Amino acid sequence: MKLVTPLVLLALCSVPVAAQSKLSEWPQHSEDRPRPRVVEPGAVYTVAPPADAIVLFNGTSLDKWTAGSGAPAKWRIVDGAFEVVPGTGTMSTRDSFGDVQMHVEWASPKPAVGTGQDRGNSGVFMADGRYETQVLDSRDNVTYADGQAGALYGQFPPLVNATRAPGEWQTYDIVYHRPRFKADGSLQSAARFTVFLNGVLVQDNMELVGPTANKSRPPFTAHADRLPITLQDHGHRVRYRNVWLRDLEKTP
Ligand code: MG
Repeated sequence: MKLVTPLVLLALCSVPVAAQSKLSEWPQHSEDRPRPRVVEPGAVYTVAPPADAIVLFNGTSLDKWTAGSGAPAKWRIVDGAFEVVPGTGTMSTRDSFGDVQMHVEWASPKPAVGTGQDRGNSGVFMADGRYETQVLDSRDNVTYADGQAGALYGQFPPLVNATRAPGEWQTYDIVYHRPRFKADGSLQSAARFTVFLNGVLVQDNMELVGPTANKSRPPFTAHADRLPITLQDHGHRVRYRNVWLRDLEKTP
């Protein structure tokens, strides 16, 4: 048996892993596409903000959020969380961000109401509504694979379905790298996502093909390096709590 020296192992581990960007052959939103297998996540956990985190919601105040144009946030705080108030629209961070590590906890309504996309739908968007990590009640709820919880909406289904039951707190840990654009506005490098749902890897360094959208896949168009992060009002009383991020562009 040939032994691999630690030095060789180190070299192997340091080979950069290329981002993945290949879309499947399945049409967007295909109902026939096989659903990701179910993986029961471990016990509910939370992660307190580390020392260099920017805390976006600590249980008591929506000061870091706006309903748009600087207006106060319209969603409601309840039991240390905040809840979508249907019809009030998207909520955006007052500050703008580029590359981030983001932690956000969410819970879909209990009892569950509706089916498919009309059940516990919300979303975490980077770059002012452009790039959505889907929030959906995907527990015992059939919908198209690229639209369930943990999907990069309309492009990449989650690797597995690690969703918890309605009303239970779930965690997203998202690593996002913004797209880069050349001086002439053309794309230099695509937006990239790594996502954990309830501690389970669901997106592994995936490169988007453009903004996430319903029934379309538009191309990237140049935008500012730093933009607000938004949460979607899709008409369902989804709750969020313990929202924080680390600004990777200000971390040496
Ligand atoms: Mg959504």
